[in-house]
Amino acid sequence: GQCITHCPVGALRVRDDTEDIWDAIADPDKIVVAQVAPAVRTAWGEEFGLSDEEATVGKILDALKRMGVDYAFDTTFSADLTIMEEGTEFLHRFTAGELKERPMFTSCCPGWLRFIKSQYPHLVRQLSTAKSPQQMFGAVMKTYFAEKLGVSPQRIYTVSVMPCVAKKGEKEMELFYQEYAGHDVDTVITTRELTKMIKSAHISPDTLSDIESDRPMQDGTGAGVIFGVTGGVMEAALRTAYYLLKSENPPEDAFKAVRSTGFNENEGIQEADFQIDNVTVRTAAVSGLGNARALLDRINKGEVHYDFVEVMACPGGCVGGGGQPIHDGREMAYERGRKLYHLDENAKRRFSHENHDVRKMYEEYFVKPNSPKSHMLLHTEHNLERF
Ligand code: SF4
Repeated sequence: GQCITHCPVGALRVRDDTEDIWDAIADPDKIVVAQVAPAVRTAWGEEFGLSDEEATVGKILDALKRMGVDYAFDTTFSADLTIMEEGTEFLHRFTAGELKERPMFTSCCPGWLRFIKSQYPHLVRQLSTAKSPQQMFGAVMKTYFAEKLGVSPQRIYTVSVMPCVAKKGEKEMELFYQEYAGHDVDTVITTRELTKMIKSAHISPDTLSDIESDRPMQDGTGAGVIFGVTGGVMEAALRTAYYLLKSENPPEDAFKAVRSTGFNENEGIQEADFQIDNVTVRTAAVSGLGNARALLDRINKGEVHYDFVEVMACPGGCVGGGGQPIHDGREMAYERGRKLYHLDENAKRRFSHENHDVRKMYEEYFVKPNSPKSHMLLHTEHNLERF
């Protein structure tokens, strides 16, 4: 994987892209628009000795603005959007009988995409076509948001703050939008690079305020927040799939059986069956590529069958990503994952389909999940040549 905490070779791949962001900020023609992934909020405060209560995502947004970023958003918004697209796609493929032999796999982790493309190419067609939250947000910033601002997509310079080194490669994903072609995301920085920027801008964390994300992509639910921890994408997708099937919400924690109870080697595979409307949905959530290989080999041999499988390359999911702060010999992933579950539990809304701003964007722009416009901007073809 890309997790340099687990794979020393990954350390050689770390690049520093903060210079590109400073250049974009200094360029008067560019409108710099940033997003911050869910897992970043669990770890950036470690560098500054901040407590969980102090190290909010709102303070990261404030820091970005004080460094000169024009608009700052929380990737939780587009995690909810991803759930709308991927949950709808899952139900469609499941009810069409496409998943009888092989499950649908999640597609939001570039470390996993690279792994399946190189090691199990025959399973690539089982991947969800949904782009990751990072890429979806980039596409939305250069289209829907550019239209709101009344500027051309060329002027929008998109920045992501990610827990992940592999996301730097994922950003190469292309955006084709009518006459505009370019990247969804222009520059990706890691949590470590963010803290470096905050330090070099001489911003003292005590002076940061907990500001809200900008509009109109402001809302984010607890379901979007748990994207950053293993099992979270699955749990969020099932909450919404249940609603799409039954037109009513399940109890918020109905699918918590996909949560991992710990992140050591033996606990990286979490299996759970759920009954929705007399239909059994068989799921597995796996983190760590060694665990993914073990699971895929069992699927290949026909020893197990699932309908929907989530895979994250880093043990524990993105909270344990290779771009997060590194502490000698300490595995922080489990502790950080608990912080995300805590945020979910205390969130005002816990279902992606209840995200007000996502709903409004569908009404105004995408029409509905998996619409032709959604397919153009929010989905991709998994090309074996790429990565
Ligand atoms: Fe990146 Fe998350 Fe995948 Fe790790 S699990 S490679 S942090 S997307």
